[in-house]
Parts: sequence; C-alpha cells; structure tokens
Amino acid sequence: MTQIAFIGLGNMGGPMAANLVKAGHQVAGFDLSEAVLKATAEIGVKPCGTLSEAVQSAQCVITMLPKGAHVLSVWRDLVAAVPAGTLLIDCSTVDIDSARGAHDLAEQAGCLSLDAPVSGGTGGASAGTLTFMAGGIEAAFAAAEPFLASMGARIVHCGGAGAGQAAKICNNMILGISMIGVCEAFALGEKLGLSHQALFDVASTSSGQCWSINTYCPVPGPVPTSPANNGYKPGFAAALMLKDLLLAQEAALASGASTPLGAEAAQLYGLFEKQGNAGRDFSAIIEMLRGTSVS
Ligand code: NAD
Repeated sequence: MTQIAFIGLGNMGGPMAANLVKAGHQVAGFDLSEAVLKATAEIGVKPCGTLSEAVQSAQCVITMLPKGAHVLSVWRDLVAAVPAGTLLIDCSTVDIDSARGAHDLAEQAGCLSLDAPVSGGTGGASAGTLTFMAGGIEAAFAAAEPFLASMGARIVHCGGAGAGQAAKICNNMILGISMIGVCEAFALGEKLGLSHQALFDVASTSSGQCWSINTYCPVPGPVPTSPANNGYKPGFAAALMLKDLLLAQEAALASGASTPLGAEAAQLYGLFEKQGNAGRDFSAIIEMLRGTSVS
C-alpha cells in the first residue's frame, strides 16, 4: 500500500483515482471544484481542502489537469510542498514545452518525474484499461509502472522527458485525420447508394481498416458500441480532439515538421467546434461533412 495524492479529479482523474483505491492504495485528493471533491469521497478518495494537505506524506503525486498552464502552476506549488525523492506523474495531455518545464521543476527539487498522458477516454479510465505513454528517466518509469498498471492495461516507455506527450499528439493526429477520412468515405458511399453495412463489411476487413471504422464507426449500426448509436454523446468530445490537433500543430511548427493533413484536420475540427459541436463526440463531424450539421 502506498500513499498517493491525486490532483485534478474530473472526468478522467476521478475514475483513475478510484482504481488506485481499488488496488489497495491510500489516496488523498484535491480539486478546485467542491462538487468534484465530494463525488470522489464517495469512491474512497480522502477529500482535501488544499494541495499541501493532499500531498502531506504522499510518496507519489499524480496530476490530471486541463492544460499545460494548470500543470506548471500546480507543479510549482507541488515541488515546494513535497520532500526530495517523491515521485511526480503528470497524466494530463499538454504541450511538450510545459511537460519538459514540469520535469525541470521536479529535477531541481530532487524529485522523480514522468509525463504519462493516456489514451482510452473516460470508458478506459473507469475500466482501468487506459494506455499510458510515458516520458522520463528509467528510474522514474520503473517507480511509476506499478501505479500506472492499476489504472491501465498497456504502459509504453516512449523515451526521455516529453516523449509521452510527443507520442500522444502524434497518435491523436492520426486519429483526427483518419476519422475525417472515414466520415468522407461514408458520406460518399451514401451518395453512391451504398448501405452503411456494406461499406463497413468491405472497408473494415480491407485496406481501409483502422480504429475509426473498425471500433468507432461514425454511422449507426455496424459497430453497436460507437457513439453514432447514442446521438454522438461522447466518448471523446470534439473540443478535446481540437485541443490535441492544435498541440500537434504547435509541435510541428516548433520542430519544422510538415503536417499538411494534420493542419487541415485542425481547421475542420475548429470549424466544427464553432458550429456549436464542442461537447459532441468527435465522430459527429460526419454531419458537417455531409452538410447536415444540426447544432
Ligand atoms: P476535466 O475538466 O473533467 O477535469 C479536470 C479537473 O481539474 C477539473 O475537475 C478541475 O476542477 C481540476 N483543476 C483545474 N485546475 C486545478 C488546480 N489548479 N488544482 C486542482 N484541480 C484543478 O478534464 P478531463 O476530461 O478529466 O481531462 C483531464 C486531462 O486528460 C486533459 O488534459 C485532457 O486533455 C486529458 N484527456 C481527456 C480524455 C477524455 O476523454 N476526457 C481522454 C484522454 C486525455
């Protein structure tokens, strides 16, 4: 049993902390939202009124926050509040510079640190089946692995500081581009008189196969668990997809990589968000591509 502090107990952090409790750890939590804190108390997390109360006697601190600025601000307070040697893990999806900045803060305080963003969404967070993409030194990865294993099914050490965030934005750029491609194919198939099932049966077993069609098909019917069967309730909200595509564009600009399809995907999701679809599942972009967006 380890004493763990969990900071940021929202849609992802809450169920992740609950899985640490189920694995037998003592978890103290802090969140700016009182309603969120209250909800996590019900699943065995000790609610704390301040960050310093939550991290008191914690051997490991995990953050799951909206953006890089939140992570840097929390980590600045964190490194002042914990003893050297404490393991600090950030599971948020943030820009690579912020991730490296957080590692620098930890190093200056003599703490071990890991950036470990996740894939798998709120369903994976609840089921404990997340994929973790980790960046940091080997010693930090080895120390963090047992905790990550309580919250996920697959843990990949991608390299040094920031490598987890790099893998995350590359993966999600593939996802954004592939979802748009799959939606375009279904919209074209509809115009050509192809049934959804016929296109799915061919493409999901041919060279068109990918996660966006095989697991998350953007039309109702072929994959009963996809959000298309549930009014495009997320799932993975379009706003989060746009966030990740913009992080990929920021990284491409900074590194000199050429990502023209990633740029186009960011533009399309930006437009989709402006049409009032931020909170809908990202696969609902098929409606905009058909020219039938209803929101
Ligand atoms: P969320 O908004 O539900 O949760 C974030 C929580 O952080 C909120 O409860 C908020 O009150 C809290 N918070 C903000 N600033 C704080 C501070 N200074 N101190 C303490 N608490 C603070 O967001 P989420 O959906 O849980 O996402 C968290 C992170 O996970 C994001 O970086 C997101 O991109 C990433 N992510 C989300 C999903 C998903 O499907 N939701 C999937 C993969 C990755």
